Amino acid sequence: MAEPDFRAPKGTRDILPAESGRRRALVDVFARRAELAGFGEVVSPMFEDLGVFKRLGEDTDVVTKEMFDFFDKGDPPQHLALRPELTAGICRAYAEHRPVPPWKIWYEGPQFRYEQPQAGRYRQFTQVGVEVLGADDPQADIDVLALGWSFYESLGLGQVRLLLNSLGDPGSRPAYMEALGAYLEARSGDLTDQSRVTLERNPLRVLDSKREGDQTVIADAPLMVDFLSGDAAEHFRVVRSGLDGLGIAYEMSPRLVRGLDYYTRTIFEFAADALPGAQNAVGGGGRYDGLVEDLGGPPTPGLGFALGVDRILLACDAEGVFPGPPPAVLVFVVDVTGGGSALSMCQKLREAGIGADRSYGGRSMKAQMKVADRSGARLAAIIGEDEVAAGEVTIRDLRGDAGQRRVPLDMLVQEVSEFVPGPN
Ligand code: AMP
Repeated sequence: MAEPDFRAPKGTRDILPAESGRRRALVDVFARRAELAGFGEVVSPMFEDLGVFKRLGEDTDVVTKEMFDFFDKGDPPQHLALRPELTAGICRAYAEHRPVPPWKIWYEGPQFRYEQPQAGRYRQFTQVGVEVLGADDPQADIDVLALGWSFYESLGLGQVRLLLNSLGDPGSRPAYMEALGAYLEARSGDLTDQSRVTLERNPLRVLDSKREGDQTVIADAPLMVDFLSGDAAEHFRVVRSGLDGLGIAYEMSPRLVRGLDYYTRTIFEFAADALPGAQNAVGGGGRYDGLVEDLGGPPTPGLGFALGVDRILLACDAEGVFPGPPPAVLVFVVDVTGGGSALSMCQKLREAGIGADRSYGGRSMKAQMKVADRSGARLAAIIGEDEVAAGEVTIRDLRGDAGQRRVPLDMLVQEVSEFVPGPN
């Protein structure tokens, strides 16, 4: 086969049937669970003013290295960027529309980061997520965590761990930053060159380094949980005891900081043990109590999570769960009389809500049966000269043991209805 002239850009992929159907089914499961918990969907722009994303932290990789930014054709041109995540855009929307808090929203869609592609890491990837704006109550944290946890469970995933930490509130931060800064300065000779540069700008970001050379220093660094203010400690205590009460197992992960700067208090990550370490993060989130105000809105506590759809599907493959929905087409019409019957039969079935397909090009019975088999349809509805003359149709079970029978053509819908899979 000749090489095509173009391929999908580096780090992007075409998601083809049937994988695309499985992916949509997964998003549907998430949407249903979020809506049952009182979240409404927000569809926000795929690009925003670059300034919106700068609030993610001027020193984070996402802002410094991974932004797909560009200028529009305006006069003067506006500096825009494809969204690398959705929280900042949602907070921008909150500041713009001022909905009544608490504002509980969910979303789904592609995000863009200029990363080095590898298994499970793409330049365009899909996230589903929720945000709650305007709720300070630790009960909101518990609710959000429980939603994420139960979503993985509902897919059948059994090897997902919840890692939990608190980053403290503005009252806890200064003393910790001072202790951390002093510790890292004293050990700076043992850090990698990149982390020495990061240390100058933001000591917290050093803890997010995945570089081997930094790990011994990070292992002994002071921990935020030892510096929590009374309020932050109490908030965290309530979150943990709520999770205990719901029977949600979590692991304390006192070195977890996450890759964005806006987090305060509760932060968490979901790790899928069925995936290799470098790609096992299947979701994460936390509180960001200052972000809305940072974007020009009123002081508003907020929290949420984003889950990586591509990686969750990889985890499902690795655990052998969530195979995706069965083919939507129940009946494949095989018409060896020229195709006119197939046309009317398919229309009738589809109008009755029954999936039906057919082949094109007036092919032989054998060729059409092959296509019917490949389609995944449960039944073939076969129409030949005999059937036309008798006003009948032959229904053949392609996958079960119901055999074959001839029925009056006008009974087709009733006859195949018994094979419609019930809700599971
Ligand atoms: P983050 O906003 O970086 O915490 O990402 C939340 C989740 O999105 C991660 O846990 C991953 O599952 C997923 N994710 C982040 N970056 C990528 C990427 N480049 N490719 C695929 N999935 C990603």
